Amino acid sequence: MTYRHVDMQGNVIPLPVSKVVCIGRNYLDHIQEMNATVSEAPLLFMKPAAAICHMHEPIAVPTDKGECHNELEVSVLLKSSLKNASVDEVKSAIWGIGLGLDLTLRDVQAALKKQGQPWERAKSFDNSAPLSGFVPIETVEDLEDLHFTLSINGKVRQQGHTELMLHKIIPLIAHMSSIFTLDSGDVVLTGTPKGVGELCPGDTVVASLDTHLDVNTEVVAQ
Ligand code: ZN
Repeated sequence: MTYRHVDMQGNVIPLPVSKVVCIGRNYLDHIQEMNATVSEAPLLFMKPAAAICHMHEPIAVPTDKGECHNELEVSVLLKSSLKNASVDEVKSAIWGIGLGLDLTLRDVQAALKKQGQPWERAKSFDNSAPLSGFVPIETVEDLEDLHFTLSINGKVRQQGHTELMLHKIIPLIAHMSSIFTLDSGDVVLTGTPKGVGELCPGDTVVASLDTHLDVNTEVVAQ
């Protein structure tokens, strides 16, 4: 099925489907588990529209490229374009928030890192960005007070809190818009906390964002 952005009731949100802009290394506990270093300027990368799929549909992971890891992240859907945006402009450009998985081929990424090459082969393949439905921003009290959780086969694997982001959502998006124009329908993935690990066909997945949303899904082979 062709992907469209949807709300929590499954209603189509009349916005285009465009790119996903992501930040790496935005939570200290994840930086530590990866033995990585804190970068002063946010580490940014993108996923193309073909990477986007629905999280509530079975998550198809490649099985011939080494381990494919979960990275559960808070997602932000933009309803208008931003270029060199102020904090206030960012606030008024947000349609809503949800959850996204930044699926990562960890072995491929490790090889790319070693060679000093960009990460697209590890992170930007088709269906590498399963997204939940979006909750309207009007119903969200505080973007810096959101808990989110990922459970695999009934066991909690990731627990995050947006207060612990090194680069908080609004200033992060303002910064992104100083590097490249963000368009209506773009989605921002805001980084993963610790607890990345392999997703295998047959795994059951439950992702939740505070009291706002829950997604029950499963992993299948691509
Ligand atoms: Zn990520």
